[in-house]
Amino acid sequence: ADLLCVPETEIVKRLFLQGIAVNVTQTLDVPTATMVAEELEILVEIPEKEEQARKVTDMIDAADLDSLQRRPPVVTIMGHVDHGKTTLLDSIRKTKVAQGEAGGITQHTGAYHVDVEHEGVMQQIVFLDTPGHEAFTAMRARGARVTDIAILVVAADDGVQPQTIEAISHAKAAGVPLVVAVNKMDKEQANPDRVKQELMEHGLVPEEWGGDTVMVPVSAITGNNLDQLLEMIILVSEVEELSANPDRPARGTVIEAHLDKARGSVATLLVQNGTLRVGDTLVVGSVFAKVRAMIDDRGNRVDEAKPSFAVEVLGMNDVPEAGDEFEVFTNEKEARAEADRRKDESRQSRLQQTMASRRVTLSSLSARASEGELKELNLVLKTDVQGSLEAILGSLEQLPQDEVQLRVLYAAPGEIAETDIDLAAASDAVILGFNTTLATGARQAAEREGVDVRDYSVIYNLLDDIQGAMEGLLEPEM
Ligand code: GDP
Repeated sequence: ADLLCVPETEIVKRLFLQGIAVNVTQTLDVPTATMVAEELEILVEIPEKEEQARKVTDMIDAADLDSLQRRPPVVTIMGHVDHGKTTLLDSIRKTKVAQGEAGGITQHTGAYHVDVEHEGVMQQIVFLDTPGHEAFTAMRARGARVTDIAILVVAADDGVQPQTIEAISHAKAAGVPLVVAVNKMDKEQANPDRVKQELMEHGLVPEEWGGDTVMVPVSAITGNNLDQLLEMIILVSEVEELSANPDRPARGTVIEAHLDKARGSVATLLVQNGTLRVGDTLVVGSVFAKVRAMIDDRGNRVDEAKPSFAVEVLGMNDVPEAGDEFEVFTNEKEARAEADRRKDESRQSRLQQTMASRRVTLSSLSARASEGELKELNLVLKTDVQGSLEAILGSLEQLPQDEVQLRVLYAAPGEIAETDIDLAAASDAVILGFNTTLATGARQAAEREGVDVRDYSVIYNLLDDIQGAMEGLLEPEM
């Protein structure tokens, strides 16, 4: 009724005349709703099922859609410094992996998996064991999306802190669901309700208060409630319907890589689609490789790795970079050609980067807006004080957003930090500074990443520029 701009009773009456008795609290099926709307001369379009389209990603092709199977979630831990990220990772690993695994856990591979029993079935969760969002953002800035779910650790005795808020912004910008671990519950000063209240101010509403964010009170030190946390991750992953096609050549991303004196170039690869096998020929970034041996996260030699699992791979002729993608080729000649092609390409793109053509600036966004190509304008806002922050956010909200939507990824008072630059680089955002400065290192980072940092001291000028860019009217800078 709201959409059709008629009173609810009007719809009830029309249906009654058709011999359908309903009351206002009932839900109509699509054909009935269409019939009513058409009687009112409103054209109804039924959106195509997005389900299938959504599953086609960088890693999954349309050809995989008929062979998709469930895969375990890949989880990253984020949160403020000292809130217990490392302790939580260690504690989960010790309680879950040490049982019956002989010494395998000394290995540091960049990722490990744990087994969790859920409704009588053994399931796995894969943890990326580089805590902190640096890794997360650095990878995303390179275009790699490896994390399915992020655990946000918040200490119950310290509450929401600057890096907590940053982590929330990063996860939101990446579209990654968050599960909150309210940690240090064993401490006397623990105040989980305060944590929940503070998180609400940042848009995370706990389930028990009617929201949709799962929050689990835990203690990384005593191990209390960790099982509950793991189970919640499984539940969230079920909603996400994570899947891949194990029956195809593997594809995925480099989690970390280094040169080992004894073993040569060693890389941890996360398989995101297909199955990786010993003997496979692959191209990693622009490196050619023939898989000589694979070692899993528990130190065992394995012959194959399925989707969502990470393995150390030996046999690369050079060291790839974290965040590089890899792909298995059935034809060795093609693989070598592809590696060469990528080498050329990366040389080219490096050249372009130095020429700063990758740079996303407010005026390049404006040019795209004038072509009608820009749908969203991403912003990171840093100001001198809370008051000006609120004033600017309030005014930005007032700008007409019919053509281009404004998305403020992160807004806070304070200096413009390197992490702000990372966030902007990962999301093609522009940074707006109001009466604030760049922290040490942030300027170089901005230049390196090609991030546009604009600095204002008059709110009107800031709004004028943003509005101009949204309307495609901003003059290009020389
Ligand atoms: P990170 O910086 O987030 O990785 O934090 P750490 O894991 O290094 O933990 C910071 C400090 O908090 C360490 O001294 C930990 O022992 C302590 N800590 C972590 N988790 C808990 C917990 O559940 N309870 C208590 N009492 N201390 C914790």
